[in-house]
Order: sequence, then structure tokens, then C-alpha cells
Amino acid sequence: MTEEKNALVFTNDNCIGCNKCISVCSCMGACVSHVVDGINRIDVDSDKCIACGACFDVCEHHAREFADDTERFFEDLKKGERISLLIAPAFKANYPSEYGTVLGGLKKLGVNRMISVSFGADITTWGYLNYIDKYGFTGGISQPCPAVVGYIERYLPELLPKLFPVQSPMMCAAIYARKQMGITDKFAFLSPCIAKKMEIEDGNNGGYISYNVTFDHLMQYIREHGISGENATDEVEYGLGSIYPTPGGLKENVYWFLGESVFIRQIEGEKHMYEYLERNREKIAKDKTPYLFIDALNCANGCICGTAVEEDKANTDDALCALLKIRESVKKDKGMSAWAKKLSPKQRLKN
Ligand code: SF4
Ligand code: SF4
Repeated sequence: MTEEKNALVFTNDNCIGCNKCISVCSCMGACVSHVVDGINRIDVDSDKCIACGACFDVCEHHAREFADDTERFFEDLKKGERISLLIAPAFKANYPSEYGTVLGGLKKLGVNRMISVSFGADITTWGYLNYIDKYGFTGGISQPCPAVVGYIERYLPELLPKLFPVQSPMMCAAIYARKQMGITDKFAFLSPCIAKKMEIEDGNNGGYISYNVTFDHLMQYIREHGISGENATDEVEYGLGSIYPTPGGLKENVYWFLGESVFIRQIEGEKHMYEYLERNREKIAKDKTPYLFIDALNCANGCICGTAVEEDKANTDDALCALLKIRESVKKDKGMSAWAKKLSPKQRLKN
């Protein structure tokens, strides 16, 4: 194996140099051909890779792997460090029946607070609506997805001014938990996404979060170590932010508050989305689109089937169905809250 072992995405010794990864990779130069001991292999250039996960899907030899912080998270818990969880809404959707016992097991190991990022997504929606209203900023690109942001930073820098200056739900939740709830613990993000590690470690994000604990590596660790406990649940009430992980989740949130006549361009897919940005780069940069904004995600089926979701889960509709149930459960039949069904979008927005 090469020095890329410490990289976020790397090639293991199963690689037979079939080149399939090159054909799906949107990032020119991220897949690099090497001959090692007379055998061709394709390594990953970390500076160019945006951790989109496309190569994992096509590699039949299980030759691509990724790094996260699961091991370090459990080691630090054992050492007695105070750690609180920020839980991606996709976790409950992917593991509806294990959710409580996994959280209970983590609590037994010493995890302190357990906060669903759904409420961070509600803050994000508020941020988008406010920013559009205050600055008349239209035709921008949403930025909850670190792979999209990574691509724009590396390959389409002229679109950087079109990225909304609103943090992702994960970061909104972390900032709120630190500044408003006064939680001083380290935060671990239970994550459906490989690329979140890039966002967590980005110097602009102030070290708010310390661990990207992916579903894939977490559940493997949980099973191997028999971790389980009495049912526990997350705290902090949330609304429609819970559906952010579905394709167009942000769009649906904005419709809830502005009505469905606003024009939002939803686009997702590991290859398709980047081709779309490339094709429309000039129009977007020069404000020549008719869109309120562009809701862009790397993963074709949203974060519920993210790059770090276990393969057997990502291949079914189970998580989507669970999430649709959660969506209906957060809408309120009574009262005047922002989540009241009977109110008009305008009244919800005001509330
Ligand atoms: S698709 Fe897999 S086996 Fe084929 S070259 Fe890429 S990493 Fe190697
Ligand atoms: S994760 Fe995406 S960007 Fe990185 S090498 Fe694989 S296909 Fe290319």
C-alpha cells in the first residue's frame, strides 16, 4: 500500500487496475495510475479528490476505502473525555429499530448529550430565507453538501461567490449547541457522509466538531463490540429540518414557508450534478438563471443514501419511507407554530 493510507479516500491492495474508477470520477487527476511491482493500480490524489464516493459504487473489487474518526471517538470515550453527539437525521431513518438501543449503548459508554441535527437544519432554513429576504440574493447554490463545496473550491472557483454564506445543518447545530446551549464538550457527528470530514476539518469551521463518525464504520464497530443499551433518544425539538437528507429536502422546506410558486432548481448525482455545474458555470456566475436558488447534492438519493451509509441500506427505499413518516409526524395539526399544517406559508414564515 502507498502513503495515501492516511488519506480520506484511498486504494487498498485489492486493486487490479481495471480503470473503472477513472471513468466515473468527476475530478480530473484524482485517480492516478501507478505501476507497483509490475502491477497497475489506481491511487487517489487527496488534493484533487472531493470524496464523492462514485468510485466505491463501481469498484467490483472493493479496492476503495475511506477514513473516518470512529476508532478515535471510542478511544477518547474510554479515556473519559466529555463527548456529545450531533446526530444526522439520516441515522434514525436508516436504523429506525436500532436507533434507541445504539444511542443507549453509546450513553452507557459515557456519551453526554445527544442532539439531532434536524433542528440545525431548521436553523439553516431560517438562514437561507433570511439571507434571500435581506439581500435579494437569488440564483445562489445551497451548501449543505461538502462534496459540492469541495468541487466548487477546487474546480469552479468563479462560483464561490454564488455559494450561500449559510452553514450546513451540522455546523448550525454545532454552533447553536456551543454558543446558545453552552455545551463545552467535544462534538462527534454521526454521519452518513465521507466528505463531512473535510468540512469538519476546514480551518474556517473553527474546530467546533472533533469527529466524523460514519454510519458504516460506527455500525461495524457496534456489532463487533456488542454495544447496546436501554432505549435512549435525542433531545431538542425539531421540525421539517428532519427531511433535509431526502433529495430536494431543502427545497421542500423553502416551499413550506414561501409557497410552491418559487422556482428552485433541484439537482443531484455524483456525476450528473458536476456536469450540470460545469455546463451552466457561466450562467450561474453571471446571475443569468431564473432560479431562487439551486439545491445541489452529490448523492442521487440524498444523504439518507450517503457515501458512508452501509451498502445494503443504501440500496433500499427503507430509509426514505421511514423519513416520510418522520416528515408527517413533525407537522402539527393544532397550534400556531411554524410547523402548523393549517397555516398559509406566509403565516408559517412569520411564526
Ligand atoms: S475500479 Fe477498483 S479495482 Fe478498478 S482500478 Fe479502480 S480501484 Fe482499482
Ligand atoms: S471519491 Fe469521487 S472524487 Fe474521489 S477518487 Fe473516487 S470518484 Fe474521484
